Amino acid sequence: MNGRQQRLFILGTSLVPPLAVLAAMVFLWGRLLRWSDVLVFAIMYVICAFGVTTGYHRLLTHGSFKTSQPIRLALTVAGAMSGQGPPITWVAHHRRHHRVADKEGDPHSPHLGDGAGLRGALKNLWHAHLGWQLDPELTSDPMRYCPDLVRERAMRRISAWFLPIVLAGVLLPGLLGLLITGTATGALTGALWGGLVRLFLVNHMAYAVNSICHYFGRRRFATIDESRNVIWLALPSFGEAWHNNHHAFPKSARHGLHWWELDPAGGLILLLERLHLARDVVRVDPRRLALRERGLSLVGEFPVD
Ligand SMILES: [Zn+2]
Ligand SMILES: [Zn+2]
Repeated sequence: MNGRQQRLFILGTSLVPPLAVLAAMVFLWGRLLRWSDVLVFAIMYVICAFGVTTGYHRLLTHGSFKTSQPIRLALTVAGAMSGQGPPITWVAHHRRHHRVADKEGDPHSPHLGDGAGLRGALKNLWHAHLGWQLDPELTSDPMRYCPDLVRERAMRRISAWFLPIVLAGVLLPGLLGLLITGTATGALTGALWGGLVRLFLVNHMAYAVNSICHYFGRRRFATIDESRNVIWLALPSFGEAWHNNHHAFPKSARHGLHWWELDPAGGLILLLERLHLARDVVRVDPRRLALRERGLSLVGEFPVD
């Protein structure tokens, strides 16, 4: 995909789903949402959210654990299905974000734009949320940030097949809806809720980590960026909203560092490890964690890719 196609894709996936929902609500009021749609939506949300969080983010970007090639590929395809962009592009942007978080060169910081007051803040938040992806000037060179993935033929293939994979992610819930209900309406509403609405919600969940989690919320660790933990986003983001924790310990498989910090993406990694399907799972040393919480150590301030 070239830059223009990518920008059109982002605009399309941001605008089409809410418009489709609006149209469906007008035409199908009362018949729009049934239990089968809720089920299909939940299945697709879980698959795609794990793809972005456990797959794209913790596995491919940070190497928080290792796993077999089939699981690695399945997680990557699930990540692509979420509509977040080809894996090589996503990882390049995200590694760059960690290198210079909230400083010049960060692709999506809400703190770099000019403009004062509420208007300036909203403009900067919009840039961090979605606007940065519409900037034709913005590219993160994959050869510089993720040569490891560029060298991998499977990653190049999945990146090249990104659009058909996204389309499959809309058709698959339609097929599920058809299988569950045995009706054409079930197929259509399955594709609507499990495909388009899910695409919209998973995308904005991931965007919110870049915008909201660098702006609002609590800072447990004195990191050199503006990352924050946002409790209400923890569950929908599958644990990614413990973002200050993540910037303090970028390689940690778990972003929820205490038992009460819900972290489904980290939970999946621990489950895979238990089933002997994941190895070399990166954990934070409890003594180091305790020191960092008291602000006594600067070790780990500089993230490792
Ligand atoms: Zn961040
Ligand atoms: Zn990260």
